[in-house]
Amino acid sequence: MSELVALEGIGVRFPVGGGGLFGGRRRYLTAAADVSFGIAEGETLALVGESGSGKSTLGNVVAGLQVPSAGALRFRGQAMDRAVWKQARAAIQMVFQDPFGALDPRMPVSALIAEPLRIQGTGSPAARRARAAELVAQVGLPVDALNRYPHEFSGGQRQRIAIARALAPRPALIVADEPLSALDVSIQSQILNLMKELQERHHLSYLFISHDLAVVNHLVDRVAVLYLGRLVELAERASLFAKPSHPYTRALLESVPRIGRRRQRGRTIAGEMPSPLAPPPGCVFHPRCPKAEDVCRREVPRLDPAPGRPAHLAACHFRE
Ligand code: SF4
Repeated sequence: MSELVALEGIGVRFPVGGGGLFGGRRRYLTAAADVSFGIAEGETLALVGESGSGKSTLGNVVAGLQVPSAGALRFRGQAMDRAVWKQARAAIQMVFQDPFGALDPRMPVSALIAEPLRIQGTGSPAARRARAAELVAQVGLPVDALNRYPHEFSGGQRQRIAIARALAPRPALIVADEPLSALDVSIQSQILNLMKELQERHHLSYLFISHDLAVVNHLVDRVAVLYLGRLVELAERASLFAKPSHPYTRALLESVPRIGRRRQRGRTIAGEMPSPLAPPPGCVFHPRCPKAEDVCRREVPRLDPAPGRPAHLAACHFRE
């Protein structure tokens, strides 16, 4: 599979406090640090981690909504200069967690779906209406949905409208930021199935951002695990779920509730995530890691292959 998008050493920092009339020390919040991964044509890559891990920030970087403070992005092998971004803008679309917030309540569905095309100046008004009608059918909504408004639909139907809108410019990649977490469990599987079906039909890639590993296990090819803005593990789904190499990934997997005879609650991960304003030295996971040793407090571990698994990378001095 050829590479569609690549992130190379991406860092994102936000200034916090300081400056202004009263001066004070300006500090920096590190939302992402030295993150590198690629997404292949037709691939689904999940970005997972607890809240505050930097998942959405990286999704925004890929979608062009956040300018990184460090590193570079490539699209189909080309560095993202102004001309490449022009092509990439249509080719990379986004679906958000809250479909209601993402849809202008004053616009009918036909105009909402056609809006990205109108903004790009693609096609005549009649061609854009025809594209909206085609997409409404593809996402499983009735044709009369075109003349109705977002508030007339359920949450799941609104997410279908948001997906149709993202598909309008014929993207190669959809960045889906927690697209299921505002929906009822029964609706989640319908939207997951729709996303799979659309992927096959349009040969789409997805960057699927989620805190829910059970959902990830149903959809994705590879998983990137983030902790405090750092990429700590990157592997094929089967390898990661069967034999996680990083202690944080193991803890995340153990925290997923299991369905057995009795519904069991998953174990929680010990301690709290440190502040991104003052990340710990060495391995950022060391304050919570049951395997931490002195070297972990001193040296940042590299993202290297796990023993015997060249495609399974983990950033741990004691990777398994
Ligand atoms: Fe734990 Fe050390 Fe590995 Fe970090 S490097 S995850 S602290 S064992």
